[in-house]
Amino acid sequence: MAELWDIIIIGAGPAGLTAAVYGQRAGRKTLLLEANMYGGQIINTPEIENYPGIKKTSGAEFAQALYEQAIDLGAQMIMEKAVSVEEDGEIKHVHTEQNTYDTKTVIIATGAKNRPLGLPREQELIGAGVSYCATCDGMFFRGKEVAVNGGGNTALGDALFLAQICSKVYLIHRRDQFRGDHRDVEKLESLDNVEFVLNSNVTELIGEPKLEAVEVTDVHSGEKRTIPVSALFVAIGQMPENKEFSNVVNLDPKGYVEAGENCLTGHKGVFTAGDCRTKDVRQLTTAAADGAVAALAASGEIDQ
Ligand code: NAP
Repeated sequence: MAELWDIIIIGAGPAGLTAAVYGQRAGRKTLLLEANMYGGQIINTPEIENYPGIKKTSGAEFAQALYEQAIDLGAQMIMEKAVSVEEDGEIKHVHTEQNTYDTKTVIIATGAKNRPLGLPREQELIGAGVSYCATCDGMFFRGKEVAVNGGGNTALGDALFLAQICSKVYLIHRRDQFRGDHRDVEKLESLDNVEFVLNSNVTELIGEPKLEAVEVTDVHSGEKRTIPVSALFVAIGQMPENKEFSNVVNLDPKGYVEAGENCLTGHKGVFTAGDCRTKDVRQLTTAAADGAVAALAASGEIDQ
C-alpha cells in the first residue's frame, strides 16, 4: 500500500514552509512538494525589514532558515511539480509530473509567478536585458544604466538594490503614487542616481540582439520618450497558477483560490495558504500567518 501522508503541501514558499513547521509540530506527517527552489518569490528580495522580530535579513537567508526549521522538525520535501489533486473518498491522490502521493489533507500554497509586460520581443530578450529578478541578474549590469518597471514593494526593493551597483536607475511607474512602502520611496528620492519616470508605461523594447533602450509613453499626454538602458527589470506584480487544482477549489476570475482568513476552501480536506489565495494584503507576515492557520485547520480536520 502506498504511504499515506497527513498533510501534503503544494509549494514551499514562506506559506508552505510555515505550514510544514506547524504541521510537524502538531504531530502530522507532512510532505512538501516543490517544483523549483524552496523559498518562493521571497528569495529574490534583497532586504527584508518588515518581518516582526527580524530587523533586517535577505530573502535568501530567511528562506534558508525557514526551510531548515521545517526539515529539522521532520517535514519531508520532494522536488516535483504537483499537477493535479484527485479525490478518492477520504483520501486524496496528489499527482506530480513523476509520481503520485496519497494524503488525508492538502494545502495549496502555490504562490504566484511574475507577471510579464506582454510586449513584443519580451520573451526573446529574457537573458539579453530583460529580467524579472534584480538580485539574480543585477550584477551583470554593474556600472550600467538600467530601468525598473513597477510601483510595488518589489519594484522599490529592486530599484534600491540596483542603485547600489548601477550608475543610474530609472524607476518607471504607470501612476504618480507608489503602492509600495513610503519608507522605500523616501530612500529612493534621496539617491542621486535614481530618476522616477512617473505616469508612464513601457511601450517598446528596443535593441537587437540585446536590449539597448526602452520606449516609455506618458499615460496622460501620450508623449513618447526613449531611455537608453542595458537592462529592464520588470516588477509589475504576480499572477497565480492554480488552474490545475480547479476541480478541488473555486478560483476567482483572476485565478486566485477563493478562501478567507481561515484558509478554508469550502472543500473538505483542501486548504490554501499565502499569495495564491484571495486576500487584500500579500506580505511575508500574512503568508506565514496563513501557513500556520492552514496547517492547524488541516490537522484539526484529520481528527474529526
Ligand atoms: P504589487 O504590489 O502587486 O505591485 C505591482 C505594481 O506593478 C503596481 O505598482 C502596479 O501598478 C504595477 N503594475 C501592475 N500591472 C502593470 C502593468 N500591466 N503595467 C505596468 N505596471 C503594472 O506586486 P509586487 O511589488 O511584486 O509585490 C507583490 C506582493 O508581495 C505585495 O503584496 C508586496 O507588498 C509583497 N512584497 C513584500 C515584500 C516584503 O514583505 N518585504 C517584498 C516584496 C514584495 P498600480 O500601483 O498602478 O496598480
